[in-house]
Amino acid sequence: MEISGKSVFRGIAIGKLAIFKKTESRVKREHIRDVPAQLERFEQARETAKAQLRVLYEKALKEVGEVNAAIFEVHRMMLDDPDYTESVNSMIATQEINAEYAVAATGDNFSAMFAGMDDEYMKARAAEVKDISNRVIAVLQGESAGAPAAAEPVILLADDLAPSETVQLDKSRVLSFVTRHGSANSHTAILARTMNIPSLIGVDFPDDAAGKTGIVDGYKGLLLIDPPQETLDEYRARREEDEEKKRLLLELKGKENVTRDGRRIDIYANIGSVEDVALVLANDAGGVGLFRSEFLYLESEDYPSEEEQFAAYRKAAEMMSGKKVVIRTLDIGADKQAYYFGLDREDNPAMGYRAIRICLDRVDIFRIQLRAIYRASYYGTIAIMFPMIISVDEVRRIKEIIAGVKAELDAESLPYKDVELGVMIETPAAVMISAELAREVDFFSVGTNDLTQYTLAIDRQNPKLDGIYDPHHPAILKMLQMVADNGHAGGCWVGICGELGADTTLTEEFLRMGYDELSVSPSMVLRVRQRVRELG
Ligand code: PEP
Ligand code: MG
Repeated sequence: MEISGKSVFRGIAIGKLAIFKKTESRVKREHIRDVPAQLERFEQARETAKAQLRVLYEKALKEVGEVNAAIFEVHRMMLDDPDYTESVNSMIATQEINAEYAVAATGDNFSAMFAGMDDEYMKARAAEVKDISNRVIAVLQGESAGAPAAAEPVILLADDLAPSETVQLDKSRVLSFVTRHGSANSHTAILARTMNIPSLIGVDFPDDAAGKTGIVDGYKGLLLIDPPQETLDEYRARREEDEEKKRLLLELKGKENVTRDGRRIDIYANIGSVEDVALVLANDAGGVGLFRSEFLYLESEDYPSEEEQFAAYRKAAEMMSGKKVVIRTLDIGADKQAYYFGLDREDNPAMGYRAIRICLDRVDIFRIQLRAIYRASYYGTIAIMFPMIISVDEVRRIKEIIAGVKAELDAESLPYKDVELGVMIETPAAVMISAELAREVDFFSVGTNDLTQYTLAIDRQNPKLDGIYDPHHPAILKMLQMVADNGHAGGCWVGICGELGADTTLTEEFLRMGYDELSVSPSMVLRVRQRVRELG
């Protein structure tokens, strides 16, 4: 049997399938007389649950880093939410019921309320409020909310996995996880990628799969159940090949990105968080070519402060020990929504109020980010680039804001260094005015993901159009040449940070066009290096 889903992390896993059943607490409604005693029980259980979350946070902090661990702090804060605690307390008091039942009912009510909201971010909170309620109930019932246990390494199947469950997985025992629900942007998916476990979401596996042999194909997004022997042999061979390829690629660490006839190109890596810098270093990238800073905002419950951002950017700069770190300023909006921005629903969000448009409108938010980046620049080599640029005027306005930020830092005697400024070329408008833009900045980085969607008028999020979303379209390739030529004529270095940069069938073409840099996901760095070294 073969079931398809969406891959969250690539790789191949082969092993026994195990279904992870949540320890759904069966809670009975009981009439009680001693209301104060029940209120006290709830209070005690809430404190214990908070202490558990603290421990989980510390564990996650060590294993998956600050940004990903933050979810447990959020859960702890949810347990302090006055609406939540008041709801439980008033149910106990007015209905004279046991604390377990009041917690379960409150969890259900809040979860249904969140699930009914339009906002995807709030929808995601529905699972979390259930998660914290189950934790409190487990404490009340004298259990500890434990990690799923498995004796031998398994492919774990679940309806959904709460972040707290994911992080508690004993990695040595889990080969992969596969869930029916969840989205590619959920905390669970982000944690999964960080944990390097091949994973699939949106897989409607049958309930009787447990105990059978399975294969997870994280390349094609497939779960195979009880495959025939020859398929198993085929996948075992592929897994071996994967391992072998990885070993061979590692031999390229420390080698130069140079063709046989002496042409060079920089290969940098794309990251979404400071934690990913470890992968950049492990894969020997020459720098960070795209730090998607919006993930700091997406993982947060409120606007991240200047200090929080400064700490993150500084850490990235320090970890890269002087190698370049290109920070892309906030690219929120469209598919990347943070509810606290209070953005309106839009008919056409990809062409809507997003990225630099928000930053130039809500300059207070932008200024905080720029201050944090400039302050961090003192600790390494930082460059800044701006997303979704369509005009020279936008760049000039940005430069004015930066001048103001620098003046403030000077006045406060806060140190910073010179920072290269760049424009992301991801709109056809930016391509067409690239000669003018090149006079304003130090570098260009082509965002081929968006450039393809805007040039071909194909929504990059629409799976129905995947078949015609073609970044090899001659229109895109001509644009890439134009950007390289105009950039160089204006004294800029030029790079590509969209997914196309990692397409090794085009590496030769990019070198021919004169690109100076390709920024790819960390796992692709050595593969692109390998391609470069074959050429010439
Ligand atoms: C792009 O559009 O190519 C890009 C690199 O940015 P993002 O994928 O984050 O929109
Ligand atoms: Mg983009």
